[in-house]
Amino acid sequence: MSRVLIIGCGGVAQVAIAKCCQNSEVFTEIMIASRTKEKCDAVKARWEKETSTVITTAQVDADKKEELVALINSYKPEVVLNVALPYQDLTIMDACLECGVHYVDTANYEPEDTDDPEWRAIYEKRCQELGFSAYFDYSWQWAYQEKFEQAGLTALCGTGFDPGVTSVFCAYAKKHYFDRIDTIDILDCNGGDHGYPFATNFNPEINLREVSAPGSYMENGKWVEIPAMSIKREYDFPEVGMKDMYLLHHEEIEALGRNMPEVKRIRFFMTFGQSYLTHMNCLENVGMLSTTPIEFEGQQIVPIQFLKALLPDPASLGPRTVGKTNIGCIFTGVKDGKEKTLYIYNVCDHQECYREVGSQAISYTTGVPAMIGTALVASGLWKKPGVFTTDEFDPDPYMEALNKWGLPWVVEENPVLVD
Ligand code: NDP
Repeated sequence: MSRVLIIGCGGVAQVAIAKCCQNSEVFTEIMIASRTKEKCDAVKARWEKETSTVITTAQVDADKKEELVALINSYKPEVVLNVALPYQDLTIMDACLECGVHYVDTANYEPEDTDDPEWRAIYEKRCQELGFSAYFDYSWQWAYQEKFEQAGLTALCGTGFDPGVTSVFCAYAKKHYFDRIDTIDILDCNGGDHGYPFATNFNPEINLREVSAPGSYMENGKWVEIPAMSIKREYDFPEVGMKDMYLLHHEEIEALGRNMPEVKRIRFFMTFGQSYLTHMNCLENVGMLSTTPIEFEGQQIVPIQFLKALLPDPASLGPRTVGKTNIGCIFTGVKDGKEKTLYIYNVCDHQECYREVGSQAISYTTGVPAMIGTALVASGLWKKPGVFTTDEFDPDPYMEALNKWGLPWVVEENPVLVD
């Protein structure tokens, strides 16, 4: 029924591709296009014997709009799924607009070069006006609203797990369980162990930028920013156990704050072990997380990119990682005049993911929703002109698809709350 162009062929993309191949009814044809074509060819060879989805591959530099336009015009997909990096969001959106094709991604835009003076001027103004200082935010993609609306095209932003599924959980709670939601706590727990002293579960550069940034949450429509890792809580996660978790800035808070302004407080917590934090602090203190290029023996290097080259490739963690993830949302609010609390979560087992698609659970919990969001746009169930996040559509078909495609969820009444 649909022809989809998938851009990127890393950890998340490889799961999204495997799931598209399982869902051949919707994904009759896919093209995998990335910077390194050999990776695309290897993934094609892995799945093509087990699927009726017709797979082709191509090389593309997604930083170059002209290359993307030429590729899209020659392949003529209905939808482009961007699972490359957030740096490419805007060039891919521009190419989709030029070619009249729908757009889907899993992470909001951030610039590769945070020293670019033009970007920096806008960023610094936004920090002052809104009160949070993360490098990534939705303003760049929301600025495409009118263009996508006028072109009659859908841009679905952030259909991974968090953001993505967590925002769908919010829309689902609002639709079926609450008359009014007062607070949302999004809890992301990875109880997995890969046996390395230090590794990141998805792209190291994007991951380390995210977790080393100041934390922030939304209260009464305003951002409250705190020093990185300065709010810590313990939580006893179903099927994982007791873990330390830390308040982080996260992109779904921004979208939920805009789309559900009645919610008084929205926070995001992620679990980290002591070893991860000690390594990260040390790397930060010696300057290894810096995005500013330095000259080294006559060559320009960006410290965090050099670090990425040293760290294990997240796509290689699959066979080594054991344990489970638990990601979900805790809600407080009111239903039929009575106070109510609710927890919606998914538990995912690293080794089960590896057996099914050859990846660990972080790539799996992102790649499955990337496929689901793309399928909903491709099939027309989630199609409307403009730029949207996953909380802005009917959550029911997405929730159904999560159960069907490997991420079943649990609704628990009266959970333990986070103070
Ligand atoms: P990886 O680094 O494993 O993969 C990125 C892929 O994009 C690689 O195949 C890379 O090519 C390719 N790529 C990078 N730059 C370009 C370019 N200029 N042109 C073409 N291809 C390019 O990242 P992940 O798979 O871990 O992450 C993918 C996305 O998913 C990221 O945006 C990340 O932020 C997001 N994510 C979202 C989550 C969520 O829950 N919402 C959770 C985790 C990740 P090459 O192979 O040559 O390096």
